[in-house]
Amino acid sequence: MAENGRPKVAFFDFACCEGCQLTVVDSLQTHLELVEAVEIVQFREAMTEKGEDYQIAFIEGSCTREQDEARLREIREQADIVVALGACAHIAGVNAIKNVQPSLQDVREYVYGDKWEQYDSYAARPISAVIEVDAVIPGCPIDRFEFLDVVKKLLLGKKPSVPDYPVCVECKLKENVCILETGGTCLGPITRAGCDAIYPTYGVGCLGCRGLISNPNENAMMDVLEEAGLTVEQLMSKMTMFNAYEPAHIGEAVASPAEE
Ligand code: SF4
Ligand code: SF4
Ligand code: SF4
Repeated sequence: MAENGRPKVAFFDFACCEGCQLTVVDSLQTHLELVEAVEIVQFREAMTEKGEDYQIAFIEGSCTREQDEARLREIREQADIVVALGACAHIAGVNAIKNVQPSLQDVREYVYGDKWEQYDSYAARPISAVIEVDAVIPGCPIDRFEFLDVVKKLLLGKKPSVPDYPVCVECKLKENVCILETGGTCLGPITRAGCDAIYPTYGVGCLGCRGLISNPNENAMMDVLEEAGLTVEQLMSKMTMFNAYEPAHIGEAVASPAEE
């Protein structure tokens, strides 16, 4: 805690595009009360100071190298509260697309060319695969209002929570025409809500950036797929965008009933 009684907060980035941190910067500009409620001691994208004394750590990005593990453990050791910021940190997100390519070596050569040996890289993982995480802010990028809500709850000493029901619930409340009924694919039935079903509202199927709900109803999902004339393969191909880290789990959740 700072001498002024405000909790010290730090932001860290690992493998990511830093879009979630940009959303944070944007949120702080429109909600100055938060800047006054905490003391930000480290935030590479927004300031040059680099304080190492902090209580709350927001971590953006995936673990994709051995050296990331040591850095994550250092942060965990220092911080009382660790928050995974965005899909890359929460579920490995788009970084995990490389995990399902035929060869990680091919990926390294494709990205780094003949300099590939200079860059460490292994399969992408969410930060929870390495350290304990106290809260998550899902999404790619995060939703600014959800970020503000999580910070406010942390400051009040409450444990932040995110919705654990499917995007379909929000979509139905908005009275959208279901994408599945118009021949499209949509991961809404098994994806965590909280984005106000923004994709389906604009006529695009959900790609699952907020991760799976904790108990995806695979039987209901199979019924939905069957009714819409879709296959598990079509659904799984959409899964790789944000949820490639856990293809086995996803496969179980969606495919098992059909195999019985
Ligand atoms: S979750 Fe999306 S917006 Fe956020 S850092 Fe990762 S790729 Fe960028
Ligand atoms: S499947 Fe997609 S479009 Fe249909 S109700 Fe669910 S979220 Fe909406
Ligand atoms: S509709 Fe799906 S992909 Fe779009 S923001 Fe919501 S959870 Fe993410």
